[in-house]
Amino acid sequence: MRLSRAFLPTLKETPAEAQIASHRLMLRAGLVRQTSAGIYAWLPLGLRALRRIEQIVREEQDRAGAQEMLMPTIQPAELWRESGRYDDYGKEMLRIRDRHDREMLYGPTNEEMVTDIFKAYARSYRDLPRILYHIQWKFRDEVRPRFGVMRGREFLMKDAYSFDLDKEGAIRSYRAMMLAYMRTFQRMGLKAVPMAAETGPIGGDLSHEFIILAETGESAVFYDAGFETLDWEHSDYDYDDPEDLARFAALLTSMYAATDEKHDPAAWEKVPTERRREGRGIEVGHIFYFGTKYSAAMGLALAGPDGRPVAPEMGSYGIGVSRLVGAIIEANHDEAGIKWPDPVAPWPAAILNLKRGDAACDALCERLYAALGGEAVYDDRDERAGVKFADADLMGFPWQAIVGPRGAASGRVELKRRATGERQEVSLEDAVAKIR
Ligand code: ATP
Ligand code: MG
Ligand code: MG
Ligand code: MG
Repeated sequence: MRLSRAFLPTLKETPAEAQIASHRLMLRAGLVRQTSAGIYAWLPLGLRALRRIEQIVREEQDRAGAQEMLMPTIQPAELWRESGRYDDYGKEMLRIRDRHDREMLYGPTNEEMVTDIFKAYARSYRDLPRILYHIQWKFRDEVRPRFGVMRGREFLMKDAYSFDLDKEGAIRSYRAMMLAYMRTFQRMGLKAVPMAAETGPIGGDLSHEFIILAETGESAVFYDAGFETLDWEHSDYDYDDPEDLARFAALLTSMYAATDEKHDPAAWEKVPTERRREGRGIEVGHIFYFGTKYSAAMGLALAGPDGRPVAPEMGSYGIGVSRLVGAIIEANHDEAGIKWPDPVAPWPAAILNLKRGDAACDALCERLYAALGGEAVYDDRDERAGVKFADADLMGFPWQAIVGPRGAASGRVELKRRATGERQEVSLEDAVAKIR
């Protein structure tokens, strides 16, 4: 992407309404633009990051054996009357009437719809177990939308739903999602801690929230310091082996961790004082096992192995995909701007041409840009070097390839690592090898 032709706008002023770093930086670096309270347009830079995060979520859901589908954003009210949640859900649900005066709503979650769809096709226990997921926009009319995309009204969520024959199977699905979630956040460079949680309007009796520790988080959290040094390898666990899944769940649940809602002072007392950690965190994911709550209410019954009808045991599993963009920035930034972790960076590098019009600088930048297959932001603007440095730091690409007249004359590029500030002078080939 050539910056001279790109729509990658940045702001010099810090927008007054933004209270936390990630919100300020998302506005200043031109990731999003608020179009109404809690509703955002994703600009090209923000969309690239969002898509990369979404893709990691997708790959790990697929790896865990979940299958992707796509349900609509608009749902009929009847489905929610069947489960009894239409009235319970309250003002967070955006209710709409169509031209025929039919009651519709913009979906805040999809338990009812997926249960209804599954019911239309599944016949017997042989159709179990299954896990379905989609990555779709949700709407919740939050009383106080704030912190930018962290608490939006319209937001992107990955939500998965599991159907199992019995409780044992449902717990296995739940554990598979625990493993998939820990791997998902690990791949994004985030340390997530699963914490015992309230089930809220989803219902059910087993639930964990995945929390990223951050001072600006909205939840108060209590956890064992063991989570800070938790050492585990994804490859040590096999999704097809129930023993492995149980071993992984035991690793995560053997140490104390709870949000304020579920905090248990008696259990907390048993954690050695030097290992007690209190702080704040951001909820980036939430998993629930709720048994037959929806299958029973909505008449989903399949022929069991003995021919008698059984209501599948279900669970649901959410990840805040758009919230993650904010959470990742909250965990990776400095005064100057964003420091994208490589796996989610919108582009791996910026090429900074410090002297546009200088034949050697122009030629070297063009060669580097071509060698990267155009997968970089090439700052070919007619701007001062200081402006280019500041914008590259703000937008936060993991690498900056700085090309000035002195280096260009001998074919050298100055490579700066955004995360550490480290600089080294390298050949074009070495620059390409490092950036790739
Ligand atoms: P919160 O406690 O932050 O209001 P929630 O518990 O209501 O979230 P869930 O129903 O558990 O949310 O939804 C699953 C995930 O969707 C959450 O873990 C969170 O990452 C994300 N999410 C929920 N509400 C929002 C929102 N308003 N804006 C952005 N992401 C959200
Ligand atoms: Mg909420
Ligand atoms: Mg919550
Ligand atoms: Mg939740």
